[in-house]
Amino acid sequence: MSVAAGDRIEVGGESVSAAHFIGGERVGSGESFTTISPIDQRELGRVADAGPGEVDRAVRAAEGAFDDWAALGPDGRAGYLRRLADLIEQNVGRLAPVECTDMAMLLRSLEARVIARAALNYRFYADLAAAYEERDWRSRGTWNRVQRMPAGPAAVITPWNAPFMLSTWKTAPALAAGCTVVLKPAEWSPLSCSLLADLTVEAGFPPGVFNVLQGLGSTTGAELVSHPGIRRISFTGSVPTARRIGVSAAERVVPFTAELGGKNPFLVFADADLDAAAAKAAGQYDDSGQVCLSGTRILVEESVMDEFLERFEHHAAEHVLGDPREERTTVSPMIHPDHLARVEGFVERAREAGDEIVTGGSRAAGGGLFFEPTLIRPASNDSEIVQSEVFGPVLCIQGFSDEEEAVSLANSTEYGLSGIIYTGSMGRADRVGRAIRAGTVWVNCFLVRDLSAPFGGARSSGIGREGGDYALDFYSDLKTLQILEGSTG
Ligand code: ADP
Repeated sequence: MSVAAGDRIEVGGESVSAAHFIGGERVGSGESFTTISPIDQRELGRVADAGPGEVDRAVRAAEGAFDDWAALGPDGRAGYLRRLADLIEQNVGRLAPVECTDMAMLLRSLEARVIARAALNYRFYADLAAAYEERDWRSRGTWNRVQRMPAGPAAVITPWNAPFMLSTWKTAPALAAGCTVVLKPAEWSPLSCSLLADLTVEAGFPPGVFNVLQGLGSTTGAELVSHPGIRRISFTGSVPTARRIGVSAAERVVPFTAELGGKNPFLVFADADLDAAAAKAAGQYDDSGQVCLSGTRILVEESVMDEFLERFEHHAAEHVLGDPREERTTVSPMIHPDHLARVEGFVERAREAGDEIVTGGSRAAGGGLFFEPTLIRPASNDSEIVQSEVFGPVLCIQGFSDEEEAVSLANSTEYGLSGIIYTGSMGRADRVGRAIRAGTVWVNCFLVRDLSAPFGGARSSGIGREGGDYALDFYSDLKTLQILEGSTG
């Protein structure tokens, strides 16, 4: 079924374009896919599904706009990014209900922090790129100078959880560094990024600088990352997809970053503020656990296990499953029936394998795409439920006897995205923090972010780093300019 350039979807009180956004124009498609609302599984509408011709058109638009955008320099580009940041802030009331309806993130989280963070991404990178100082030093009779050259059109592929924020997290440094962008949002939550395209028009972006292609990963996404016009690929999603994208990138020698899943350890030592630790651990059920950074393996020092469990169960019982638009809801529906079935499959296999289901373990009564907040005590550290990312409201709990065992368990999966440590000891925070193999380790807190810090994963949790100058360097070709001393006036 086709989608015309002017087709729109009514969602969250807003009318959102169902078409691509290419070269400053809405572009229809001969094919389409359906997007549903996880809240009631109602079909919201049909969205354009890009074939090779549309992908080519989008990349050519990005190529065509590149030279002028690059030539603007960081200061010239900063004005556009700051205007976009302002517009995002002014439109929180439109963006939040759309993303809430399409993806089921809690409306109050979107309104209070997630959309604001998207605006901050653009403002932060506008400032950071403009503040770049070329490194300059003398050696071997020459002046050496390190410059950033914008790399070219960038393909940005984003996942279905937090689609708006994660798309801005990637496109902000790309645009600030002077790349033009083709963004492909995930097919399970494509609509908020369509609104982002409208805001770039309002912000006065030149046509072709920012393009949105809608479509399925295995076709549109694969076609986009293998297009010869793409000079950078930034991806967040699953490990199998990263492998495929890596092969495409390698074939054309294109740098790519991949932020992938995690099976992140949440360590609780006996010297910790146990109630704070238990409250934060129960908070890992937020967003139905559909957060790659979640601490899903709770590792507790045996001497305080009983007390911790009691406090954890108290906090976990405070969760309210429900409609993400309602103030009292703390756990929203899962994104899609297929994903719910996948999560259920993990728990069923755990049960069959002899892991103990301490709480939860089933779909929630009353229908809807809900899975009960679930706690599992695995029979062994090799259990699938310990080693694989579930991406749902399913946590494991295991004990440890000392620091050495805690670190060994923490590092015992193929992943290394994040780690969380609760301890009252600075020495332990430093020792264990250093010993954990992960891109980010939080001590006595969680999800606190400074945008200038590197962000990414170790081992199967990813390649490359986003954040701060790391992202600006990624979207640039670094050049060394060397001038023979005394040879110029
Ligand atoms: P998840 O399991 O979180 O859905 P995926 O890796 O399947 O993770 O999807 C993340 C993003 O990658 C989505 O935008 C999806 O459309 C896209 N994608 C999936 N397969 C490919 C592929 N082969 N090439 C490029 N992008 C893809």
